Amino acid sequence: LNDNLKIIEELESSVRSYVRSFPTVFTKAKGYKMWDMEGKEYIDFFSGAGALNYGHNDPKMKEKLVEYIMNDGITHSLDMATKAKVDFLDKFNEVILKPRNMDFKVMFPGPTGTNTVESALKLARKVTGRTDVISFTNGFHGMTIGSLSVTGNSSKRKGAGIPLQHVVTMPYDNFVSEDLDTLEYLERFLEDGGSGVDLPAAMILETVQGEGGINVARFEWLKKIEEICNKFGILLIIDDVQAGVGRTGTFFSFEPAGIKPDIVCLSKSIGGFGSPLALTLFKPELDIWNPGEHNGTFRGNNHAFVTATESLSYWEDKAFEESILRKSDKITEFLNSLVEKYPELKGEVKGRGFMQGIETPVSGLASKVAAAAFERGLIMETSGVEDQVFKLFPALIIDDEGLENGFKIIEESIKSIIK
Ligand code: PMP
Repeated sequence: LNDNLKIIEELESSVRSYVRSFPTVFTKAKGYKMWDMEGKEYIDFFSGAGALNYGHNDPKMKEKLVEYIMNDGITHSLDMATKAKVDFLDKFNEVILKPRNMDFKVMFPGPTGTNTVESALKLARKVTGRTDVISFTNGFHGMTIGSLSVTGNSSKRKGAGIPLQHVVTMPYDNFVSEDLDTLEYLERFLEDGGSGVDLPAAMILETVQGEGGINVARFEWLKKIEEICNKFGILLIIDDVQAGVGRTGTFFSFEPAGIKPDIVCLSKSIGGFGSPLALTLFKPELDIWNPGEHNGTFRGNNHAFVTATESLSYWEDKAFEESILRKSDKITEFLNSLVEKYPELKGEVKGRGFMQGIETPVSGLASKVAAAAFERGLIMETSGVEDQVFKLFPALIIDDEGLENGFKIIEESIKSIIK
């Protein structure tokens, strides 16, 4: 074991996880590259689980942040008004909401993804006066009790130590099979109020499940979900914490499906620079919070506002979106070629945009590929309940050379394992 990791082994709780997959001590990062204490260079195909869509240390964001600090810009302000917040809201409205004809109120629920999910669930229950929430198999929404209750992963749920109640888990798209219309069942189930089914406050889902194994919901499926929600007065919560902020090719992952969620959860890359920031967006008529009803100390990370504001400049340039789509086609092509060339993988290419991977039913194979890639200088994670998917999550700003070098490492790693 790497000597530099000794103190981590001795002192940090055994709960640690990513350090086990990537056992080294990192010191530096720039763009899509990272370096460790030995000076070894890595290509980052992980991007902080989607928190670094613009790469590490983006030069413009860095400049803005340094300038802000050097000018004694305020760091902490609870949810008081600051210039940094005003600038962020203004630009978010101008660059993201208005051009998409979206009318949302913005709430800062706390620093991380789980905070936005908690606030969304609370708001939906308060607005509807209903208790239950429909969640989906293999969904991932966070580790605090409310967000854990809608997370479809039994080993994570066990960690709660108490029954996670008032949630009904339904099959996600294709969970059973492509041909079985589980939504027809869901609709029928909700219709039959007389049989003892209480109507739920909300449905919560990811359009592409990140942690659950890169499962993609078809656009028709999402449209049908929206239709059912409208029919029964159920609020539709889209958790775009991982799939949002460009990860699937558009700013919001649900844009190409043409649906209009009532509540949207954003975090991870919304801060732009890897700094904690979370947003809950909801239709203005849902804004029935009493002042201070949902508060917290860290709802105004001004450093994150500064970098988030700068990050939105990427979205002012149509070429940025086009480049994500062009490069994601390259990723699909590469993954398809792997599946064809290496039948031993029994692989299936899954995903959308910069959120793709290969699922292999061969036990332990995806993790072996990721470990072999790490040895060769590539950081890549696995996902799914049995870690059956290795996922390619490069920063959206990666260039063709970075992609190709990463591809080479993945192919060499596969070759080294299946020989
Ligand atoms: N929702 C989704 C879709 C996520 O992927 C995650 C984190 N992986 C969360 C919520 C929770 O975010 P956080 O870890 O910042 O609490």
